Amino acid sequence: MDRINILSTLPSTDEILYREDIKELLKEIPRNLVVRETRKVVSDLRGEILKMSEAEKSNYQIDIDQIVNEVINRSVKFTEMNLKRVVNATGVVLHTNLGRALISEEIKEKIWEVSSSYSTLEIDIATGKRGSRYDHVVELLKFITDAEDALVVNNNAAAVLLTLDTIAKNREVIVSRGELVEIGGAFRIPDVMEQSNARLVEIGTTNKTHFKDYANAITENTAALLKVHTSNYKIVGFTEEVALNELVKLGKDTNIPVIEDLGSGVLLDLTKYGITYEPTVQESIKAGVDIITFSGDKLLGASQAGIIIGKKCYIDKMKKNPLTRALRVDKLTLVALEATLRLYLNIDDAVFKIPTLRMITEDIKSITMRSEMLYNMLKKVSGKLTVSINDDYSQVGGGSLPLEKLPTKVIAITNSSITASKLEARLRGFRIPIITRIQDGKIILDVRTIDEKDYKVICEAIRSAIKEF
Ligand SMILES: *Cc1c(COP(=O)(O)O)cnc(C)c1O
Repeated sequence: MDRINILSTLPSTDEILYREDIKELLKEIPRNLVVRETRKVVSDLRGEILKMSEAEKSNYQIDIDQIVNEVINRSVKFTEMNLKRVVNATGVVLHTNLGRALISEEIKEKIWEVSSSYSTLEIDIATGKRGSRYDHVVELLKFITDAEDALVVNNNAAAVLLTLDTIAKNREVIVSRGELVEIGGAFRIPDVMEQSNARLVEIGTTNKTHFKDYANAITENTAALLKVHTSNYKIVGFTEEVALNELVKLGKDTNIPVIEDLGSGVLLDLTKYGITYEPTVQESIKAGVDIITFSGDKLLGASQAGIIIGKKCYIDKMKKNPLTRALRVDKLTLVALEATLRLYLNIDDAVFKIPTLRMITEDIKSITMRSEMLYNMLKKVSGKLTVSINDDYSQVGGGSLPLEKLPTKVIAITNSSITASKLEARLRGFRIPIITRIQDGKIILDVRTIDEKDYKVICEAIRSAIKEF
């Protein structure tokens, strides 16, 4: 059949809409949506036909049933949620693309209660007057960190921006060349500086910055000394940085505030749980840093937020900055943050109740047991699968503790009739997507980031992925 002829046999939109199964579909799904999908399916097919070679065209016939099926599939898919849960089998605990920190099950009712009802968001219940949305977390943050005051904005990038805009607009900020950090998603310290109209004064070298580098760079235009925690990389070897307390002393002597971008926001001593030392928020307050910023959804384990704590005089100025209104947090963010911070009132419990902390501190014995459970379930899925348990390492991720290698157990899967990359794609395309990685031609599932309740889902996904072989 020649090109004109094939194209002329493409069905019209009406022809498809009058099909019995489409009429059924229209009982559930709005007509304008089905019409849109029908037009798209037909136009996609027209595009494919136009690209066909003469040989392909001569063998080709329009299959209206297939078109109808495609319309049904696409229409149904459109009505389903795009943003939905996945199973993270990557072993990366704070996976930014998969939503970073998981909210604790402990607090789910609180989130629903506050978001589905009117709330005390901005009312002072004692006086009936207008209150501040920030007050709900300020006392908690002060209690946990010993800071004088606190403010919460949308994320840590916003926290750094607001801090610099308030304190250093059109003035100079001194930063070590070893700390000009880039975080994923285009957060670069020099760019944030530019946004805030603060002038970056780079000092020292990549590997070494001395006290005298800071001291010599100070002019009457210096607005702040900025310390950035190199949370997603480490410079090792012949290195030197200025200790926080020395920097604080220099700031005090010269009357210049010290700002620290801490990144992860660790509120407890992780070394107690066998994790490499990571500076805590409390240590920075104790050292006398004037302003500290950190994320809510990294190691703190709450919602996406940027937390600013420190001296009241600076936080007061930030509250008056019009930018604060633009960077304002939503009640969903605040309720998750407040409820998570309350879990920190009992630190030993916090480690178990906050999923991020529970996952990074889970010991190898427990992981081994859990890997055996999943292994036994997978063995039963199909005799065609080759399954083994291997030693490996998980990562903390989210630009936190970059060198930390957490010993873990992974399940490696191969199937003789399907390639690893096909299997990986099918697991990813499952109703509840299973996110895995491939190593040496095998699918790897790291049990550290997999909840036991998802073992069944994984088995179901694998069963459906290999069933046609
Ligand atoms: C993660 C990080 C940021 C960015 O924080 P977000 O909450 O993702 O905006 C900024 N600075 C440092 C040092 C970080 O680790």
